[in-house]
Amino acid sequence: MHPAATESSLQTIERFQQFVIPNYTRYPISLVHGEGSYVWDAEGKRYLDLFPGWGCNILGHSPPRVVKAIQEQAAHLIHIPNTWYTEAQGKFAEALCTRSFGKAFFCNSGAEANEAAIKLARLHFRGERFQIITFANGFHGRTFATVTATAQPKYHAGLGPMMPGFTYCPHNDLDALKALVNDQTCAIMIEPIQGEGGINIPGDKYFAEMRALADKYGALLIFDEVQTCMGRTGTWFGYQQWNVQPDIMTMAKGVAGGVACGVMVSKNELAPDLRPGMHASTFGGNPLAMAAGIATVETIEQDGLLKRCQENSGRFREQLTKLAAELPIIKELRIRGMMIGIDLKISGTPAVAKCMERGVLINCTHDTVIRLLPALNITSEQVDEACQVLGAVLKEM
Ligand SMILES: *Cc1c(COP(=O)(O)O)cnc(C)c1O
Repeated sequence: MHPAATESSLQTIERFQQFVIPNYTRYPISLVHGEGSYVWDAEGKRYLDLFPGWGCNILGHSPPRVVKAIQEQAAHLIHIPNTWYTEAQGKFAEALCTRSFGKAFFCNSGAEANEAAIKLARLHFRGERFQIITFANGFHGRTFATVTATAQPKYHAGLGPMMPGFTYCPHNDLDALKALVNDQTCAIMIEPIQGEGGINIPGDKYFAEMRALADKYGALLIFDEVQTCMGRTGTWFGYQQWNVQPDIMTMAKGVAGGVACGVMVSKNELAPDLRPGMHASTFGGNPLAMAAGIATVETIEQDGLLKRCQENSGRFREQLTKLAAELPIIKELRIRGMMIGIDLKISGTPAVAKCMERGVLINCTHDTVIRLLPALNITSEQVDEACQVLGAVLKEM
């Protein structure tokens, strides 16, 4: 047994069966300890985690600076409401906005950040426009507004009626978008790189033309950067890869180094539209998450992790390209920073269990896409180990 475990995986699983609602498909393993890109189960087996915290652990498991910041903050204030000022919220807002734009609103998750964005966009038009365009295979969350914004019928089944006011557009199809945008459009909402949708990376001109279209009709452009924020793509934010600034940007997942936190950043001129009394979050911007967020920004900056992300991305690309040349089951590689999609001609689901047996954790999305969201500080040796195991597993398939 691992020293951090107090019971076996099996005992934990039995407790879940009795007391936890079974809305997740879980692997039959209880995880008890992590350090960087490694994580251990209750039985003491070590795994190389290429999908740490579903992309939330942007610095890997329990990064030391974040741990220390949380410990120090917890001894002073864990939570106080937004009727007061705190140093940490101001400083984290500054750290994010000076690297992007505008002003920040804090909440606790990606869905909540997108809810705030949708409400701000509609409030901006004071009831005169409400139509929001989103894109096929996008993913924006599980609350009613954000699951409606998520243009994937499988996530709507049995939930109806969905929230009114959303229009779906095919992805990567500017002509289709042109046909949908008009002077009734409130906002266009999109992920710079679709994550859950299978690491779909648009072409060079896509966002510039989208921006021009939004401007032509006075609509707002919202980028959902819940998965692409915080250096994930090799720049602080995904939009910087295309050099197209949205009016509103949302963040979550890695933004506070693994602590629950959501953020909406809005252009200065829009910010007053989220008027007092119209939106709030009780836990939003709490000192613990803010301290973790500040430590995350400092770690990325001080350890040169944007550069390291780009270098490791190249290292993955080189080895996976070789693999793709050998393996006809690989249809396409889609890589940007530490977002890696390996699109297969067959189902990728069996690869997840096969990799786990060999001590490597990966994800598969949309049935055929092996998705990796490695920590920005993964080592080059770990990249090599990852590619070796992936290669061996894919050769067996
Ligand atoms: C994960 C994700 C969300 C939802 O975030 P939650 O924290 O689960 O609410 C929204 N948008 C994108 C792009 C995501 O990847």
